[in-house]
Amino acid sequence: MKISLVVPCYNEELTIEKFYQTATPVLSGMGIDYEIIFVNDGSTDNSRNILTTLSQKDERVKVVNFSRNFGQQAAIFCGFKYSTGDCVAELDCDLQDPVELIPEMYSKFLQGYDVVHGRRKKRRGESLFKRATASAYYKFLSRISWAKMPRDTGDFKLLSRRVVDVICNLPEHEKYLRGLESWVGFKQTFVDFDRHERVAGKTHYSLKKMAKLATAGIVSNSNYPLTLSLKFGVILAALSVFAFIALIVLSIVKVPFEGFLWLVPTVCLLFSGSYIFNGISNLYLANVNNETKNRPEYIVEDTFNV
Ligand code: UDP
Ligand code: MG
Repeated sequence: MKISLVVPCYNEELTIEKFYQTATPVLSGMGIDYEIIFVNDGSTDNSRNILTTLSQKDERVKVVNFSRNFGQQAAIFCGFKYSTGDCVAELDCDLQDPVELIPEMYSKFLQGYDVVHGRRKKRRGESLFKRATASAYYKFLSRISWAKMPRDTGDFKLLSRRVVDVICNLPEHEKYLRGLESWVGFKQTFVDFDRHERVAGKTHYSLKKMAKLATAGIVSNSNYPLTLSLKFGVILAALSVFAFIALIVLSIVKVPFEGFLWLVPTVCLLFSGSYIFNGISNLYLANVNNETKNRPEYIVEDTFNV
């Protein structure tokens, strides 16, 4: 048995050594073969040199240097591609995801689980703003996604080889891994943990980067926003018709009302037409979104006598 650790690093000169010092005794204690794949996501600090030195000292340390900053998702995905373990754990370099939890995740893998999510019980060192927006966002995403995404989980996970292989072979370009790791199916479970503060340095997720990731999460997991126009248009049209009927009834029973009131449902009905036609175009756009992702229609877990 072999386990691969995939660790994305972007300007982590203050944490790489600490990560290595913490991870190696834990991995050695597991009594199986291991490798640590650091993917240097275009760091501009001393990370590259620190990683080179580590890899010279310890052949179980593998390093992949990106030509520039491509983002954490791309770095993790690249780590998957290079990994050779029977299972693969992905975690941050800053020790916010406790390495000490990996043996427990591994034991779940041995029990037959393919995806073991690290689930955050507490989130230390994160602003109220980040916790509140993250909570609202994931609630929303979970509701609209094709595959239900478990709450309070991030990129800290352990995956079986077959899950990693499925993800590596997906043809879609922009991969939102947290979503895909739920979408693949198979047996999934959780391990709870308290998320620590960063051991050193500060977060690399600016508001802009967070917004970009959040948008990718929605676009790659759901066509729900595309359906809103049609729904809104139909509701508006229905309300307009209802208002027309009400006005007609009032006219018949000769209840006086201002003549301009006829304008309200007329304008609303005209607008609803625009939403409805836009919504119809969106149906085709949603279809294009699905087709360009080109995800397999199903994933077979196993078969018998075939
Ligand atoms: N990271 C990366 N590329 C980026 C941003 C972050 O590889 O463009 C890495 C970073 O080095 C860390 C992990 O992704 O190992 C999570 O980033 P960070 O700790 O800054 O995010 P936070 O935990 O604050 O959400
Ligand atoms: Mg972090």
